[in-house]
Amino acid sequence: MRKIFLPMSRFIFALMLIVYLIPSSQAADLKGRVVCIDPGHQLHADSSPDPIGPGSSETKPCVSSGTGGSVAGPEHAVVLKVGLLLRDILTSQGITVVMTRTTADVHVCNSERATIANKAKADLCIRLHCDSGSAHTCFTLYPGLITGWTDDIYAESLKAAGIIQKAYSDTTGIPDGGLTPRTDLTGFNWSDVPVVLPEMLKMQNVQDDILASTPAFRQKMAEGCAKGIIEYLNTLPPRAKSTGLTLK
Ligand SMILES: [Zn+2]
Repeated sequence: MRKIFLPMSRFIFALMLIVYLIPSSQAADLKGRVVCIDPGHQLHADSSPDPIGPGSSETKPCVSSGTGGSVAGPEHAVVLKVGLLLRDILTSQGITVVMTRTTADVHVCNSERATIANKAKADLCIRLHCDSGSAHTCFTLYPGLITGWTDDIYAESLKAAGIIQKAYSDTTGIPDGGLTPRTDLTGFNWSDVPVVLPEMLKMQNVQDDILASTPAFRQKMAEGCAKGIIEYLNTLPPRAKSTGLTLK
């Protein structure tokens, strides 16, 4: 009786431990994640030269002015509002969020924004933008493949872009304009972490300009991004555990 009882009790204990650890390890994984949010542009454009990648003699302006809507206002203000809402959603899930800016009047070049995400060892950097033009669409940019610059982040960035684009389009109802690779963006070429850039809507589209002016729709934009980010983070392998717990 004793010989049967002991192995059986160990089995039941191990089973209970597994059931207990599965949900807790999933929650812990999300808690250990780091996301960098880069709300695009800033109050004043800066045309000083910024190398488009490490060691490059080719430059682009440090930060461009961005676009704007006649109702919603300048792009830099809209994407900052969405970015702060997105920060709140992600932090409520236990994710650590690093912002490249939290106010309008800053001076942060696109290369520096990438460096902020790199230093934070972010699992993902999301660069929030709205596009110019009047089409009713949204799309997501991801880094094109450049050996020595983006080859280490290309595959994960593409995967994240696909997931986030779909979640954002589904949540907001803005028609899905797909994915576009870009090899000329400073903020991509300096990045050492997976990075995506959703163009969340076109600001001269009359309907989307009005929507982007409302807190309710900006919340929906943030929720769409958050849904995609969380879905992407859940595809990543678990982080190394530090409990030292081993089952023998
Ligand atoms: Zn922009």
